[in-house]
Amino acid sequence: MKAEGVVLEGTGGVWKVRTTEGAEHLTSMRGRLKQEEKIKLAVGDHVTIEQDDAGDSWAITTIKERTSRLARRAPGGRYAERVIVANLDQVVVVFAAANPEPHAGMIDRFLVIAESNDLAVRLVVNKCELTDPSVVDTLMKPYADAGYEIHRTSVKTGQGIAELHDMLAGRVSALTGPSGVGKSSLLNAIFPGVNLRVGEISESVNKGRHTTVGAKLVPLPENGFVVDTPGLREVGLWGISSDDVDQCFPEIRERIGTCRFRDCVHDGEPGCAIREAVAAGEISSARHQSYLKLREELAESENVY
Ligand code: GDP
Ligand code: ZN
Repeated sequence: MKAEGVVLEGTGGVWKVRTTEGAEHLTSMRGRLKQEEKIKLAVGDHVTIEQDDAGDSWAITTIKERTSRLARRAPGGRYAERVIVANLDQVVVVFAAANPEPHAGMIDRFLVIAESNDLAVRLVVNKCELTDPSVVDTLMKPYADAGYEIHRTSVKTGQGIAELHDMLAGRVSALTGPSGVGKSSLLNAIFPGVNLRVGEISESVNKGRHTTVGAKLVPLPENGFVVDTPGLREVGLWGISSDDVDQCFPEIRERIGTCRFRDCVHDGEPGCAIREAVAAGEISSARHQSYLKLREELAESENVY
């Protein structure tokens, strides 16, 4: 017997695969494949599995090429990246309008992680019933200007829940954002009974353990999957070169090459198109500040190595 499927999770060489028909099997990698394949299998990979003649075990025999991946790269790019999830369709960055108070710098950080992995990303502002809509509009304006799709939701009032459902159904999504913003509540409101747990792994859970808790794909009732822990924070900004940070801000990216100097870092050089756009109100000053801050932070970590 042969089947096509998706890797849901894996521990200690045992991989749980869900077939297109919806059956789940515990599998292991066929020995020959292990030696041949240079890429390591990851959650989200599309695979072919085969049952042995006795009918009591399944083996992964082929891994399909990935369309995307969320990876944790080593500092300085010296070591191989570790793929956390393969074939992600989108990252959904969730924040709250209030409680906890949103921080633009943190939103930017999540967006940069998604952008550096070339993943599609959308923003969700939950708990919208807690503030005046104009407050959310002001907070989101830089992101709307940068071209991000933004969804306003409230689990309390039901605002935006149907819309978010349609954005998740049939796709592979990673929900991320600070804890307490309502990620689990949103998923449970959208897919009642699925009982997803999409928190960031708390420090204490990870501390003192040598094994990192892997990502897990949770099948949604109407096709599609949501990635359960770890969040993007686990991925971090590691491996992003300080020179590439401008590529991770769409509104800066589209202007790269229009500055007077080729190697402009958009930090006070004459003839900088980015600073001109900030002065003209076309790029948000806060986003530009975030860019400078992340660039500096990464440059500092590069000097350590
Ligand atoms: P997570 O850590 O991001 O998964 O957040 P949770 O889903 O655990 O939610 C954190 C808290 O916020 C819980 O007490 C929820 O009941 C509450 N919460 C979730 N969504 C909303 C909302 O839209 N409005 C308000 N006022 N509270 C919400
Ligand atoms: Zn510049």
